[in-house]
Amino acid sequence: MSLRVCVLGSSSSGNCTLVASPSTAILVDAGFSGRETVRRLGEIGVAGEAIQAICLTHEHSDHTAGLTALYRGGRVALFANSGTIQGLEARPGADKLSWNIFTPGSPFAIGDLRVEPFSVPHDAYDPVGFVILHEGCRVGVVTDMGMVTGLIRERLRACNALVIESNHDELLLKNADRPWHLKQRIFSRQGHLSNEHAADLIAEIAGPHLRVVFLAHLSDQCNRPELALAAVNDALRKRGMTHVAVKLSAKDRVSDVWDGALEGPPEDQEVGAGQKGHQQAGQADIPVRGTEGGAEIPVADHVTKMDRA
Ligand SMILES: [Zn+2]
Ligand SMILES: [Zn+2]
Repeated sequence: MSLRVCVLGSSSSGNCTLVASPSTAILVDAGFSGRETVRRLGEIGVAGEAIQAICLTHEHSDHTAGLTALYRGGRVALFANSGTIQGLEARPGADKLSWNIFTPGSPFAIGDLRVEPFSVPHDAYDPVGFVILHEGCRVGVVTDMGMVTGLIRERLRACNALVIESNHDELLLKNADRPWHLKQRIFSRQGHLSNEHAADLIAEIAGPHLRVVFLAHLSDQCNRPELALAAVNDALRKRGMTHVAVKLSAKDRVSDVWDGALEGPPEDQEVGAGQKGHQQAGQADIPVRGTEGGAEIPVADHVTKMDRA
């Protein structure tokens, strides 16, 4: 069992996360230029050509700026829902992209990864978070969200690794030298998650199965890495969840790499075994077929192809 996770970078100026099994490597979002993404992948020993697919959470440019370059003329498969694709219509080069269209709530497969998209509240066309599974290992990636919903809690609860937004310190944002309408947008239920709310969410869903949390999308002006770390570590400590490693992601450098190690006390192995059974049951209902053209990887029937190139 192994799923590698590395946040190649995260902030309001770019977001991109690598999730990879031994045979399938995908990016969640593509917020850096093609060249910068490949450079950052190189820092952790991954070749740009190894990336088989990109899954988009939403259309905002800090998640999609490098999409056209990374698409490499169709050698990388693109996955998004129809709202996100609609939100990208006006971008230069968007008419050259072919899509695999998923529906939030319907899982699909990319190679040997199972991807479960689910809706999150954010001011975009149809924003989602993802849970990505491989042989019983679960990784949750949710950045831009204005509030925590019951669905988000439920989806992230059994994850072994999380990439989760910890955008701002509420006091720093309140006192920031920013226009009121911008502050209000960030504070809103469709904006971004504060350190305090991220900490509450992580502490609430943490269990023996949770190994690592990457804090993401930290604001330059309205947050400090030490505040985000302290909020989450304090909340975890209060719940006795001191085994969880809390790591930062950054705007300008790659995060640590989590290698998916799930060794641990017996209760963890029980969790792992339960998830494996669950995943096998799940796999039965996502029949896999080959793609026509584009990247040569299997995708699920829950995905619709839209070729426009
Ligand atoms: Zn963003
Ligand atoms: Zn956004």
